[in-house]
Amino acid sequence: MIEKLVIANRGEIALRIQRACRELGIKTVAVHSEADRDLKHVRLADESVCIGPAASADSYLQTPSIISAAEVTDAVAIHPGYGFLSENADFAERVEESGFIFVGPKPETIRLMGDKIAAIEAMRAAGVPCVPGSDGPLTDEKKRTLQLAHDIGYPVIIKASGGGGGRGMRVVHSEAALLNAIALTRAEAGATFGNDTVYMEKYLQNPRHIEFQVMADTHGNAIHLGERDCSMQRRHQKVVEEAPAPEITEALRSKIGERCAEACRQIGYRGAGTFEFLFENGEFYFIEMNTRVQVEHPVTEMITGVDIVKEQLLIADGEKLTYAQNDIKIRGHAIECRINAEDAVSFIPSPGEITRLHVPGGPGIRVDTHIYAGYRVPPFYDSMIGKLIAHGENRNAAIARMHTALSEMVIDGIKTNIPLHQEIMRDQKFITGGANIHYLEKKLGL
Ligand code: ADP
Repeated sequence: MIEKLVIANRGEIALRIQRACRELGIKTVAVHSEADRDLKHVRLADESVCIGPAASADSYLQTPSIISAAEVTDAVAIHPGYGFLSENADFAERVEESGFIFVGPKPETIRLMGDKIAAIEAMRAAGVPCVPGSDGPLTDEKKRTLQLAHDIGYPVIIKASGGGGGRGMRVVHSEAALLNAIALTRAEAGATFGNDTVYMEKYLQNPRHIEFQVMADTHGNAIHLGERDCSMQRRHQKVVEEAPAPEITEALRSKIGERCAEACRQIGYRGAGTFEFLFENGEFYFIEMNTRVQVEHPVTEMITGVDIVKEQLLIADGEKLTYAQNDIKIRGHAIECRINAEDAVSFIPSPGEITRLHVPGGPGIRVDTHIYAGYRVPPFYDSMIGKLIAHGENRNAAIARMHTALSEMVIDGIKTNIPLHQEIMRDQKFITGGANIHYLEKKLGL
């Protein structure tokens, strides 16, 4: 087994990785910024190394510092978590070239999936349903581009092949606006991502966001763990996630899930991954693959009983998948609320000291968080301070448990979005299930 591992992340996911390592008997090295000495996993890790000042660009995004930390501590593997360098193919490559195990897919797979046009091409070849579109980059031939948009039908969306984080996209509603929109998106993409390749897709007007969790080992085995519905979003940021997705039948789950698993086998995928789809009028449309563990992985863990992070570590160690597809049974329903240090109405971040903390519990409740009473939330990073997850025998039972848990949770000293979650749990449309990706923003009057 891997003897020692560097946790190249912070916050709740670093703690999640620390816990999985502890269970597997893997020693850990926490690498942290100067602002993060008091993080919970830094205290729990076997060793810790300060890799730079507070700004992520000078610490968590510094490949040489992270690799040096692995060298000086005699670690053999590096887990990137999510965000930061987790989907950076150059980082994964440097890690492997330096002789360490990268807990994630091969660098070339990350590179392939980071190029959206190439990713869509690979997925289409594997039989994964994609959004009708340009099937490749847009060229300078104006007539051809206009014809293409006409054939696809307005509205269309222009997207940067190298885009990410919800940036580098523009919706076009009419022919008159098309060429100008392409020029603008191209210019922005060139400036932001260093790659001005753009493509066109049909713009789906009221889709839901549904994604499939997959796991693949280095022996050619791949399985899916069903889907999650992450349609409750604000500014392309997920707020509440759940599994399974309302209204998705077992037959549809197996069909799309198996296509995703097959795509993994075809591209030689390794580790945990997520296929993101838009879902509209009963059809799935692939938009992108995330080549890492996701924030919302616990809802899948709660309904399948699979420990996704532990499985990532076993795969990285060269083991075969613990589960065959037949072993995966979905039990009940799980919902996750992302708890952010921010004002529940204005969404303005609210860093500072947590003076008092009461964490909910009871049957079916899970809290993934690094905060504790006396912990100071630094202003330099993402405002998410934890995740509250509720599992029940069905969706209504999960919602009822989430209600109770939210009402028990006390975080004093800073503002949080708990009131927003309470409102969502009471919302009639949410209770019915199946709201689309615009629903929450409309409800909030945005
Ligand atoms: P990123 O990598 O920047 O997150 P995605 O391709 O995942 O980009 O798209 C981000 C979001 O943009 C989606 O979740 C969806 O809300 C919207 N979007 C992307 N493509 C389409 C489309 N074809 N139709 C409608 N909305 C889309």
